[in-house]
Amino acid sequence: MTGTALIAKILLIENDAATAEKIREALATSTAGTFELEWVHELSEGLGRLHDNKIAAILLDLNLPDSTGMDTFDQVFRVAQDIPILVLGCVEDEEAGREAVGRGAQDYLPPAHLDNFSLPRLLRSAIERKAVDDALCEEKERALVTLNSIGDAVLSTDALGRITYLNLVAESMTGWGREEATGRPLAEVFRIIDGPTRSVARDPLEMAVEQNKTVGLTVNCVLIRRDGFESAIEDSAAPIHDRAGRVIGAVIVFHDVSAARAMSQRMTHAAQHDVLTDLPNRLLLHDRISQSISLARRQRRSIAVLFLDLDHFKYVNDLLGHAAGDKLLQSVSGRLVSSLRNSDTVSRQGGDEFIILLSEISHPADAATSAAKILHSLSAPHFIKNQDLHINASVGISIFPDDGEDSDTLIQNADMAMYCAKESGRNNYQFYKSEMNQRSVKRQSLEGSLRGALERDEFLLHYQPKVNLETGEITGAEALIRWVQPGQEMMLPGQFVPIAEDCGLIVGIGRWVMREACRQARAWQDLGLPPLPVSVNVSALEFRDTNFVEGVRTVLAATGLAARYLELELTEGVLMEDAESTVSTLLELKTMGVQLAVDDFGTGYSSLSYLRQFPIDVLKIDQSFVQELTADPDGSAIVTAIIDMGRNLRHVVIAEGIETIEQKANLQARRCTEGQGYLFSRPVAAKQFAQLLRTGITEKLLN
Ligand code: C2E
Ligand code: MG
Ligand code: MG
Repeated sequence: MTGTALIAKILLIENDAATAEKIREALATSTAGTFELEWVHELSEGLGRLHDNKIAAILLDLNLPDSTGMDTFDQVFRVAQDIPILVLGCVEDEEAGREAVGRGAQDYLPPAHLDNFSLPRLLRSAIERKAVDDALCEEKERALVTLNSIGDAVLSTDALGRITYLNLVAESMTGWGREEATGRPLAEVFRIIDGPTRSVARDPLEMAVEQNKTVGLTVNCVLIRRDGFESAIEDSAAPIHDRAGRVIGAVIVFHDVSAARAMSQRMTHAAQHDVLTDLPNRLLLHDRISQSISLARRQRRSIAVLFLDLDHFKYVNDLLGHAAGDKLLQSVSGRLVSSLRNSDTVSRQGGDEFIILLSEISHPADAATSAAKILHSLSAPHFIKNQDLHINASVGISIFPDDGEDSDTLIQNADMAMYCAKESGRNNYQFYKSEMNQRSVKRQSLEGSLRGALERDEFLLHYQPKVNLETGEITGAEALIRWVQPGQEMMLPGQFVPIAEDCGLIVGIGRWVMREACRQARAWQDLGLPPLPVSVNVSALEFRDTNFVEGVRTVLAATGLAARYLELELTEGVLMEDAESTVSTLLELKTMGVQLAVDDFGTGYSSLSYLRQFPIDVLKIDQSFVQELTADPDGSAIVTAIIDMGRNLRHVVIAEGIETIEQKANLQARRCTEGQGYLFSRPVAAKQFAQLLRTGITEKLLN
């Protein structure tokens, strides 16, 4: 429509024939494109033609027969807003022409310009300008609609930082309407602060203009709405340039990140806190200790780390259920927090372990005071599930800088000291001492060697006879594990079995013991020696292994030993741990034909009623009772009671650790029928045991 190649239709509203003729002439002889002129004399006629939408421009004389002056323009403009209007001037009234331009006319043409050079060019340019305006307007409209429909808030300013535009989201987030905001300084409408410090945040506009590029805002930016409501925002600012590259303003785009920031805060909290007690967890504690260390180092002060472990917490969990256990842990954490200062950190490490950081102590004695206070506050009954629960704790203390220079070492040493507190009777605190460390280093190196010991075939079994006290006959053999590392002395189980239990190696080792003992028992039988049951000691971890029963069955099948020649020795602790599943496992073993013995009887917590439920064949009285037999009449009373009880339950009662003839006689007087001990034989290698079987126990011992 606007191209020069097209014919432009011009509507001329003019009653002066001379002027009209002049115009017709000028357009007809134009070299600047082709025009089709339509001439009307009166306004009403002109208005009628305007419905023809093909008109590209209007040439308008303001003074017509049916209308004069500005009124003429207004009427045309009202109908033809989209068509450029050029007002034809007359020499007398230039003012009117100018006014018309002010009201929307494209141009004003003095009579002098109505020649075939000027007129066509003016018309062309008016038509083209109109087209450009339309396109711009359309583009602007498109931009506005876009800006209002995106989720982000957008505002722009001029070079001086005065607001020039806000989209709808920006309006609602700032609380300012566009009209009101326009012209105001950015800082007034877009009030932002740094969330944590609440200081005024840097002016994004300034930054963008200064750096002349898009910049992101400070990380914790908070926008304050006009009514004071605050929202966390994230945003960027970019400078706007003119064609010459000069900054003429800036645009700021931002959006509400309150929900995301709250979520991330929640996640940070969750990552740093224990779910059950909401205390700081290991991660956060590490941070706090490290911070305290650097502060203490600068101020030449001490800090203390307390490692606290509840005594016998497991029983609460086992006997009253996990829900009660959880409640108790929460109660404990409450007591800990309230017995310490705000500057101290109480954290839960999981299970029943807590670590406490005392960040401001002037002397180690302060840590002792705190530990005593903690133990005292815990000792008051905890009311849980309608009952009073009593719980104590053991605490180990390490001090910076004496016992460690970093968080890990301090925790480790406090942990070690806690173990010593447990060993020295629980419900007390102990300071870390360097000797503790040597023990633990030795233990660690043992653990390392223990890992490969099975593959290197470093274990062997010794056998100790069980003897009929009356006849001196050997009634069985107990297999006892030994560990021989190349070039070292033979190690007894007390030195390595607890470590193997702690790190789970005992399961594999126990499997080996079982197989080797059964193989040996069968081998003796194959040698024609009198068939004897062999006893194997079983640790809790092995017994709880889901494959345990199956393992026993497999070993018996593989070695060809009849089940009745295998006896398993379980301590009371193992039996009591989970009485119900214990009964079913024992019954399975029993059905298989395996014999069952309670080892170290009398040292544990087993109650008679429990024992009755278990399909037990043998009670082994712990050697500590046997040793007290002669010395202590009370000890004797207990042994008598145990022997009687065993008989009542129809168990075989064996006394362990018989070393003297007196002990043996004493036991016999109490009608104990079997025994085991150095008096008869120390545990010996398989070959020697076979020899014992052939020769029998030396007779003089039996009388
Ligand atoms: P236990 O089952 O009560 O074994 C008896 C322990 O008492 C053996 O110690 C034995 O040498 C010792 N003993 C026997 N007669 C006397 C005596 O007259 N006087 C003294 N003072 N001690 C005597 P050992 O061989 O050092 O074993 C210690 C413990 O290690 C065993 O106690 C058992 O609980 C455990 N153990 C041994 N072998 C194994 C094994 O293969 N697997 C597991 N899980 N534990 C084992
Ligand atoms: Mg035993
Ligand atoms: Mg024992």
